[in-house]
Amino acid sequence: MKLQTRLAVLVCKASGAVLRRLGRGGTNLPGKLALKIDKNILGELSRGVKVTVVTGTNGKTTTSRMIEQAFADAGLKYFSNKSGANLLTGIIAVFAQHSTLSGKCPYTHALIECDEAAFRKTSEYLPVECLVVNNIFRDQLDRYGEITHTLNAIREGITHVPNATLCLNADCSLTASLADSVPNKIVWFGVNVPIYKETAHELSDAPYCIHCKTEYEYDYITYGHLGGFRCPKCGYHRQTPQVAVTKVLATGADSSDIILDIFGHEHEVHVNLPGGYNIYNAAAEAAVAHVVGIDEQTAVSALSQFECGFGRAEQFKLGQAQARMMLVKNPAGFNQVINLIAHDEGNYKLAFLLNDRFADGTDISWIWDVDFEALADQQVRFTRVLVSGVRADDMALRLKYAGFAPERIEVIREYDRLLTEIGSDETPAFLMPTYTAMFDLRGEISKHTDVKAFYE
Ligand SMILES: [Zn+2]
Repeated sequence: MKLQTRLAVLVCKASGAVLRRLGRGGTNLPGKLALKIDKNILGELSRGVKVTVVTGTNGKTTTSRMIEQAFADAGLKYFSNKSGANLLTGIIAVFAQHSTLSGKCPYTHALIECDEAAFRKTSEYLPVECLVVNNIFRDQLDRYGEITHTLNAIREGITHVPNATLCLNADCSLTASLADSVPNKIVWFGVNVPIYKETAHELSDAPYCIHCKTEYEYDYITYGHLGGFRCPKCGYHRQTPQVAVTKVLATGADSSDIILDIFGHEHEVHVNLPGGYNIYNAAAEAAVAHVVGIDEQTAVSALSQFECGFGRAEQFKLGQAQARMMLVKNPAGFNQVINLIAHDEGNYKLAFLLNDRFADGTDISWIWDVDFEALADQQVRFTRVLVSGVRADDMALRLKYAGFAPERIEVIREYDRLLTEIGSDETPAFLMPTYTAMFDLRGEISKHTDVKAFYE
């Protein structure tokens, strides 16, 4: 191992340790320092490691945790990164952390969640065995520019890893186009049937053919722009997935039951998370397991066993109420949460928390593309409609326009009081925070509940 690489590893480990001791873990500094010392440190440290990368706009973290459960159950010697470290410098730090001081990595596999914009650069160094692209949705426009920009960043990244097998969402016309003119092996995953009887009315992020701009026709839509698409003009169409959800048996507030066909073998699968988007994430997990060589039974049982991460349908008790918290960050994801609530018949308190900091996207106009009307139609079921966050007033206005009775919309700015109100009776609650609001809530929630640590 080059002296430079050894030094970079040492600096990365040491600065990481110092920062953790100061209570400032999770910064990009160690990775940055290491990169300054050795430009190719990631290539050196990942040599010989079979790397699975998960990227795409929505569901990276949940999909990664599902795959991680399968890796663990299969007994693979692996390590993984967390969502907070999914840029190049964070990924470098995770590899350094799992290497010896001489720069050797004793693990056979790595599972890396990678920011979709960061994949272009990161893929130059990583020996990617398997790349999952979940979906491409319009997300934080002010951060990444146009939707095709995100797509092209991933497309360019793929040119660096011609030997990687791509697990692509067949139902996403944007993601599926990544298969055009690349030499990579492809495993398609998808959902062959509609997930819900009715879905939220939502704007498609990709109504027109990516090749010829003609409007797509659909045999069915699962949600957003996902489904059985085809272009009537140029013929671009959905590929038949080898890993396919062929039947949705039940969708509940906590889980779903599906029939999953993996390369011709049918499995009845209990997915331990609610929502149509997690049905896709489950199919992605099964596709990765196939590529990595994990047997189907292990892949399937992992889906029923794994515990979800904080903020992604995490459940906890607040005072007298059972609460579910679901991160919302773009129209497609928010509409899925709304679908979930709209298809449940119970009474609930609703809490909407809207921030506009950098990580949330500073332009909050996206909330006008969310189908709050579907909830307003059922507002008798909702005992409280609570609004908070930096942009609480904008959220309240949006709900008013959706048809919620204005006198029922309560703006509560202090999280402490918000949580007290939610816990004041037994009616269960749905908390829907944007990214930074979720982090702010975390500290407050720990004072209101006995859940010990949400994050490692
Ligand atoms: Zn076309």
